[in-house]
Amino acid sequence: MTLRLHAFLPRGRANGPGWRSVVWVQGCSLGCPGCFNPQTHGREEAGEAAGVAEVMRRILAAGTEGLTVSGGKPLQQAEAVVALLEEARAVGLSTLLFTGLAWEEVRRLPLAPRILRCVDVLLAGRYVVERRVAHGLLGSANKTVHLLSPRHTLEEIAATPEAEAVILPDGQVVLSGIRPPEAWAPR
Ligand code: SF4
Repeated sequence: MTLRLHAFLPRGRANGPGWRSVVWVQGCSLGCPGCFNPQTHGREEAGEAAGVAEVMRRILAAGTEGLTVSGGKPLQQAEAVVALLEEARAVGLSTLLFTGLAWEEVRRLPLAPRILRCVDVLLAGRYVVERRVAHGLLGSANKTVHLLSPRHTLEEIAATPEAEAVILPDGQVVLSGIRPPEAWAPR
C-alpha cells in the first residue's frame, strides 16, 4: 500500500503532545479559502510515493513517542493512512490525525470504525480563515478536538507549541506548527 507524501519530519514538538514524527500527505480537494498549506493541494502525481512499511521504518528509526498525520487531506488516501495509523498504534505510538472533514463527515466514512479505533486524537473541520486562531493545534475556532482514547488530555493539546524550526542532519530547515513562520519573527 502506497502513500503520496508531501513531507516527512522525523522528530518535532509542534504537531501534538511530546516528540512526534509527522507525515504530511500530498493532495487536498477541499479548497478552504486562505489555506496555509496550498503547496499540498496538487495532483496525485506530486510529492513522493512511499509504501506504508517504508514510512513506518522511518518513524521507528526516529524513536519518537507518536505519529501525527496532516496534509493535505489525509483521508483522501484513507486506506493507506489508516493502515499507517494502525501500524503505529500496534507498536505503542500515540496517533494524532488532522482532517479537513467535519466530525460528522468522518463518522459517515466507510473506514470510520477503523479510524475511531486507531486514532488517539482527531482534529476535524475545514479551515475558516475568518475564524483563525492558530493556537492549540487549531487553525480556526470552528475546528473540533476529539479525544478517542484516554491517552491525551485537552490541556496537553492546548499546550502544543505553535511553531518550530527543525534542522535536519542534511542541513535542511523544516518549519512547522499551527502558526505560519512569518508570524514568529522577532518583535
Ligand atoms: S483541508 Fe487543510 S489542506 Fe485542505 S484546503 Fe483546507 S486547510 Fe488547506
